[in-house]
Amino acid sequence: MASNFHTIVIKIGSSSLTNSKGNLDHSSIRRLAAEIAKLVKEKKKVILVSSGAIVSGAEKLKIGAPKSIPEKQAAAAVGQARLIRQYEKAFEKFKIPVAQVLLTRDEMHDHNRYAHAHNCFAALLKEHVVPIVNENDAVAIDEIKIGDNDNLAALTAKMVKADLLILLTDVDGFYMKDNKGDVFLATEIREITREVEESAGQAGTQLGTGGMLTKIQAAKICSDAGIPMAILNSRKAGLIKQFLAGKKVGTLFIPKKAG
Ligand code: GLU
Repeated sequence: MASNFHTIVIKIGSSSLTNSKGNLDHSSIRRLAAEIAKLVKEKKKVILVSSGAIVSGAEKLKIGAPKSIPEKQAAAAVGQARLIRQYEKAFEKFKIPVAQVLLTRDEMHDHNRYAHAHNCFAALLKEHVVPIVNENDAVAIDEIKIGDNDNLAALTAKMVKADLLILLTDVDGFYMKDNKGDVFLATEIREITREVEESAGQAGTQLGTGGMLTKIQAAKICSDAGIPMAILNSRKAGLIKQFLAGKKVGTLFIPKKAG
């Protein structure tokens, strides 16, 4: 399976990109860029979906956690620019160009916009660019949003017909409870059963901040599209490579049908 992963979407969440003070963690960005650079050198096509715009903007504007919608929009607009600057710097070291692609729900629902976004990714990947995707939070407000980057990453994976989606988060994978109530790390999930959905409700709050509800929604989108999805710990170096080499790390969601 592993050797068939040519086009890979990797998503990193805000919690993985911030340090203990809640500020943007530049070393996480550099580490991620180094891991992706290795994949690009192996001729893989990688699309990065990165959160962190709002966190980064709030840090710059010194406004704490933004509450109102305009505050969030402003933080996202400022933060997105900062985020891309950091990624551009980090990838420059490996002579890999990056691109910023900001999507909204419209690109996922409108046939023409979908096709245009798809064509943009195809052209970027052909030129060996790493597209860095986020939702266009400066203009997409709650009512018209995809809303979270797990779903955005899954929809992007479907759009680019990826062979794999990796969700990097701050826990080791997807945790479930056995019938004695003991928690264990699920290494492979073949079906999103009621037990899986119930565990998702608990895991985010009990076992770390990696919000699992949206990850299960992403797994469903991927499963329907025939795309495997993995949840890996962003804080452990070299994990993406180990996973691609076939090592059982994190949690792998195996799709219902082949892609
Ligand atoms: N798009 C948001 C940001 O960049 C993050 C959304 C999410 O973390 O799911 O701040």
